[in-house]
Amino acid sequence: MFVIVADNQSVFQKILAQILAEQGVDFHICSTGAEVKEAMKVRSVDLFVLTMNLPDIDGASLCRYIRQTLRDDWIPIIILTASDRGQSFADVFREGATDIFHRNRIEHFSDYLANLTEFSRPLSGRVMVVEDSASQRQLLQQTLSGWGLMVDVFPSSRPAIEAHLQQPYDVILTDIELNGLENGLDIVHDIRQQPIGIGDVPIIAITAYLSDSTRVNFLARGIDRCMLKPILMPELRSEIKKQIDARRQRLDIEDERRREREKNRAKNDFLARMSHELRTSLNAIIGFSNLLIMGDDKDAETREYAGKINGAGKLLLELINEVLDLSRIESGNITMTLESENLDDILEKCQQVMQSFASEHQMTLTFTNPLKDVRIRCDVTRLTEVILNLISNAIKYNRPGGTIDVRTQLTQTGFVRISVADDGIGISPEFSETIFQPFARAHADSHNVQGTGIGLTIALQLVELMGGRMDFYSEVDKGSTFWIDIPQAVSDETAATLDSPAQQSALMPCKVLYVDDNPVNCLLIEKWFSKQATASVSIATSAREALELLDADLPDVVITDIHMPEESGYWLLQQIRERSRCRALPVVALSAMAMDDEVEKGKLSGFSAYLTKPFDFQVLVKTLNHLVPLKRGVNSNQSSSQKSTN
Ligand code: ADP
Repeated sequence: MFVIVADNQSVFQKILAQILAEQGVDFHICSTGAEVKEAMKVRSVDLFVLTMNLPDIDGASLCRYIRQTLRDDWIPIIILTASDRGQSFADVFREGATDIFHRNRIEHFSDYLANLTEFSRPLSGRVMVVEDSASQRQLLQQTLSGWGLMVDVFPSSRPAIEAHLQQPYDVILTDIELNGLENGLDIVHDIRQQPIGIGDVPIIAITAYLSDSTRVNFLARGIDRCMLKPILMPELRSEIKKQIDARRQRLDIEDERRREREKNRAKNDFLARMSHELRTSLNAIIGFSNLLIMGDDKDAETREYAGKINGAGKLLLELINEVLDLSRIESGNITMTLESENLDDILEKCQQVMQSFASEHQMTLTFTNPLKDVRIRCDVTRLTEVILNLISNAIKYNRPGGTIDVRTQLTQTGFVRISVADDGIGISPEFSETIFQPFARAHADSHNVQGTGIGLTIALQLVELMGGRMDFYSEVDKGSTFWIDIPQAVSDETAATLDSPAQQSALMPCKVLYVDDNPVNCLLIEKWFSKQATASVSIATSAREALELLDADLPDVVITDIHMPEESGYWLLQQIRERSRCRALPVVALSAMAMDDEVEKGKLSGFSAYLTKPFDFQVLVKTLNHLVPLKRGVNSNQSSSQKSTN
């Protein structure tokens, strides 16, 4: 685009030069009418910007000269003036000026120029035109090609649809009445049936008749925009551009999402594999150090070292679990069961769990809950996890003799606020900015406190997933108060019963067959069973060996690893289920594969329980104590029914 500016005031020359340069426009500045006349001869002009009075000519006369010389109505002539004189305005309009802008409102001229340059910029994209009138087709093809678009024209709907199916267009422009027989709506109908990428192409309908009801009908059939004939070309151009831009934006977002999904999948696969390897090793570290701690024959030093190994192992396990948790939350793979829960029950459970931890650190933990019988809407397990994390932090980042107060109140917006206040070491304002980011730890160096720096990141995300809010305030050396706001339960939903705390019980008499290719894990299980008075274990290091042992002597329960070098735990489960005398035999999976989908797959495959490594002996005891009587019950039922049929 080339612009001739005619102004004899150097200040305005500078202002206009700046505006034109900013918009990337080519221009030539003249101070007299004579210079304008010379410049017009050299190059074709797309816009004139004239002042009302030049030293050698007035604005109206210059307009007349331009119109007479170029004889092209389309070239805009803009007058920039500081005058308010109506008569001179009428003069310049009569001589062919397009518009007048006041110099005090130079931004109006700037906007006008932006629109004009936009209009002269080439468009890109493939457009299909379906139009039965040959002259209209030709006009549209010429105009759209002139805007830089690639255009294919079709006189009827069938070949148009086929062409779009072969290579989708960016926009379809269709007449509605085609030859009096076909209808543009047929195109819309057939194309909208197609999958995304082909079926979601923007369609602009051109029609000679458009009542409100036909417009609504067209939009309901899947037309994006209706335009009335005769078409105003600037309007059509801006509509096509808008539709192409919007479609590209949609495709870009879709691409971005697909890339994000792939990245997430790769990240989850990596985490699953890493977690499997780490859990397998941690199983041995935590398990053997436990045995050393429990062993009466060990000296104090050995027990102390074993305690340290055990503690470090558990911290590592916590880190793995938290990283997995965070990855699940971030990839949207977390299931929340939001139910109406009794606030009292949740706080009571937290108190039970944390009271001894506080006492161990010589701290006082108090609970003040004036909101008796209030019900909140939350995932009880996840909320308990969040509150425990806050209390645990309030204890960890505190001093002996410190106090922690857990309080509740109703906020003005109807949320239930649970706050955990401590008088501990506090948090500096600089660190406050990043406290909810993963791995952010303010006191890792200054205070020897163990932690992962992920707890608060997870807590915040969990609370938000429950429709709540979380924040804190803190003063260094005075203490911190973390609070969460949870929505109240609105209806009278049934309360979910909390799991009763794990029963600390002994393993009941039973015969167990343990299958695992990892010798260290086998040794750990063997050692642990050797300490159980009434239970015994046989070990198989492959699924085939397990079947031999099982055929020779039927156990009460089989515990099997999943991933083994030859046949897997799934294969073993299938073989066991095919043996008629083993159909009711409980088979427990004990695997280092701990991602949600793996656990789900294990459960769906028919394992009686799915435990993850490193396993908790107490959970193992609970599981076996639950499964062994079931198997015996089935067997005794089977034998009694056999007896009765005999
Ligand atoms: P972790 O405690 O495992 O390091 P969190 O995500 O729970 O991880 O906490 C992040 C950091 O925030 C902690 O390392 C600590 O520096 C700071 N912090 C959290 N709670 C408190 C608190 N009550 N008082 C002082 N600092 C805290």
